[in-house]
This record gives sequence, C-alpha cells and structure tokens, in this order.
Amino acid sequence: MNVLLLGSGGREHALAWKLAQSPRLATLYATPGNPGIAQHATLVDLSATDHGTVEAFCRAQAIGLVVIGPEAPLVDGLADSLRAAGIAVFGPDRAAARLEGSKGFTKDLCAREGIPTAGYARVTTLEEARAALIDFGLPVVIKADGLAAGKGVTIAYTPAEAEMAIAALFETPGGEAVIEEFLTGEEVSLFVLTDGDAILPFGTAQDHKRVGEGDTGPNTGGMGAYSPAPVLTPALEARAIEEIIRPTVAAMRRDGTPFSGVLYAGLILTNTGPKLIEYNARFGDPECQVLMARLDDDLLAILLAVAEERLASVPPVRFAPGCALTVVVAARGYPGTPASGGTVAGIDAAAATGAIVFQAGTRAQGDAVVASGGRVVSVTAIAPDIAAAQAAAYRGVNALDFPDGFCRRDIGWREIERTHA
Ligand code: ATP
Repeated sequence: MNVLLLGSGGREHALAWKLAQSPRLATLYATPGNPGIAQHATLVDLSATDHGTVEAFCRAQAIGLVVIGPEAPLVDGLADSLRAAGIAVFGPDRAAARLEGSKGFTKDLCAREGIPTAGYARVTTLEEARAALIDFGLPVVIKADGLAAGKGVTIAYTPAEAEMAIAALFETPGGEAVIEEFLTGEEVSLFVLTDGDAILPFGTAQDHKRVGEGDTGPNTGGMGAYSPAPVLTPALEARAIEEIIRPTVAAMRRDGTPFSGVLYAGLILTNTGPKLIEYNARFGDPECQVLMARLDDDLLAILLAVAEERLASVPPVRFAPGCALTVVVAARGYPGTPASGGTVAGIDAAAATGAIVFQAGTRAQGDAVVASGGRVVSVTAIAPDIAAAQAAAYRGVNALDFPDGFCRRDIGWREIERTHA
C-alpha cells in the first residue's frame, strides 16, 4: 500500500521510520518532510492547505492511507476533505479536532459529561475576565482559546501577573479565553487510538516542557521525553480511561462528531485522581519518538484499522520491554530566535552508538545537514530501565557534532530520582 505522511518534525520522522518497517508498505510519500524522513520516504511538495492538490496527488499515486502528523491541517479540515473524497485518513475531522483546537469546547464537554478537570470560566471580554478572576484564588491559569503552540497559557501567581495576562489577551477585541483553577500534581501524557467507538490504549509518556534543567525557564514544544511513565500506574491509567477518555469518545460520537485518530490526554495526577488539563488530536512531539521506539507491532496495520473503523478487532498493542528516552537537541536561542544554518555533523556516529536520531528542524545543504528550526534532532534510545536509556541517549547526543546546538542534560530526572529513592 502507498502511504502519504504530512509533516516535517521529529514526530513525523519517527512515524516514517516505523511505517517503513511495515511489510504492507509499498511506497511512503511525505510532505514537506525533512532529510531524515527522506531516508524512508519520497518527499513531495504539496501545500497542506490546498486540499484539492493533496486529493489529486492521492488519486494519482493510489494512496491507501494519509497520515496527518501535526494539528494545524486537522483543525483546518484536511481530514474532512480527504474522507469526503473517499480517501482513508488517520486523523480526526475538523469538528472532532476541536478537542485540541478549542479549550472552551473541551471544557464545556467535560462539564456536561462530568469528566474530572480544573474548574473554569469562559470569558470574551476584559470585564468578564476580571470578574472571573475574583472567583479563583492564586495561582490561577489563564489560557487563550484556540491553538497557540503552548504559548497561550499563563500561570499567574500575583494579581498583577493575572491582570497583565488578561490585558494582553483582550488587547484586540474578539478574543476568547478560559480562566482555570490551578491543579497541583505531576503531569503525564496518556495516548489512546480510537476509531470513534473502540479505544486502544497506546502508551504513556512524560515530557519536559521547560527549556532549562530542573524544569526551569520558558516553555518549549518539548525538550525530551520517556515512555512508559510508571507514575501513571496501570490502575490510574484504567481510571483515566474510564473517567476521562471513554466518556469523551462516547460524547463525541453521540454528538455526531466522532473522533478518529490518536487522542492524547495531558493529565495532572492530583491527590483526588487524574484530571484532564488538555487534549491533543495528534501524537506529541517528542513523545511520539519514544512510543515508536517501543512499538513492537505493525504501525501501518494499526493506523489503517483506525481509519477503516476496525479498531475493535485489533489486539492490545505490544511494546518492547524496558524504557525509551529521547533527548531533543535544539538550536542555540530556542525557544526565542534559534540560530539557523549551523552544520549538524555526527548523525551517523550517533546512530553507531545504537541510538536513533530523528530529525526535526533540518535541511540538506549539499551533502551536509544544517539546522533550519528550533528543535533540530531528537536522539532516542531504548534500554531495560530508565537510567540505562538515559545513558544510551546521551551517548548518542555526545557523538553529534553540532556546535550551535544545546540540550537539557537531565531528561528523565523525576523518574530516575524516584527509582533510586
Ligand atoms: P501545549 O500545546 O504546549 O501542550 P497548550 O497551549 O495546549 O500547550 P495547556 O497544555 O493547556 O496549553 O497548558 C500548558 C501547560 O500549562 C501544561 O502543560 C501545564 O504544565 C500547565 N497548566 C495548564 N493548565 C493547568 C492547570 N489547570 N493547573 C496547573 N497547570 C496547568
């Protein structure tokens, strides 16, 4: 079968790497891709916003499945257009992608269905926001509605910070925001696949959002991750699926907007149980890299079963034993303005250590690979336990020669501290 993969990040390199292992795959195409993805796929230049062109390409190349990596084309309705044209797609329709694209939509759904989440108020003016803030103590969480790539969230610890955040959000009229109760507890990511009805648990992970060691400094897209996340014990995972995932999938189906794809729940483990902070409608980056490193099944067969609404017949997913850990190497300046154009050498040397180097913000320049984005590569290793996986991933990182790059040196620290306590 021919497959088209959309995206150009480390997440999509990991998907391409795993799809390429499928005995069912004939040709993998990717757009726009990157030099790492090009090792497994034929790169094509298609605009994801031009649905007609993507559709025409799928027909011309007899594409049997389209896999949409990032959220923007989902929220833009690319899956709707392709499905309407009879093309199988892994990824939700626009209406279902609102679970990620609109925080207000998701909070209202949680309230209706009794899904555990932070208390909240939806506001559309500065005055409403000020009034709502009075009802919440400090700290308080202030979020822009809509996609903001992690940059639309402020945790305000003082009234002045809260005022600044709402003033910025309502600087231009027409905005919408959600004000939320601050939840205390550890954060963990839970992944499930669903075809709108059946639910297939797809692993757990913990990510490292802050740029600095010890979880300090500004938020990023993610500086590293590991999987599984033992802090989400099997009992807690089962509870999160019953109390959070299952009612969400059922409500979406009942409301005529079934969610088909990967549902990624960001949870906080409070002392009264798991609570939902957010949904994403796609795999996390870099969580996808560790999930793919562990997956012992045919990814293409599973994604196709989701797209064809046959997930109920798929057995539980098999993962390799042990732990996978990935370290993101970013360009100096990230998450501000990253240095562009630095040569990334040593990728083969890093791979020779046994690590898998997934490329993200890279481009080919002659025979060289150079940095072209904030997060440049993620170096992934799998080992019997987290300490060994961490050591193996950093052996790979140390074999890279990327003077313009940096990484956190403590990925996995919480879990390593816990296992050695
Ligand atoms: P991203 O897409 O990067 O995950 P986002 O814009 O969708 O971010 P959220 O995930 O909702 O935003 O929030 C970003 C971060 O803020 C969370 O990962 C969490 O650390 C923190 N956060 C959000 N809501 C709460 C809350 N109610 N209580 C405590 N912390 C929160």
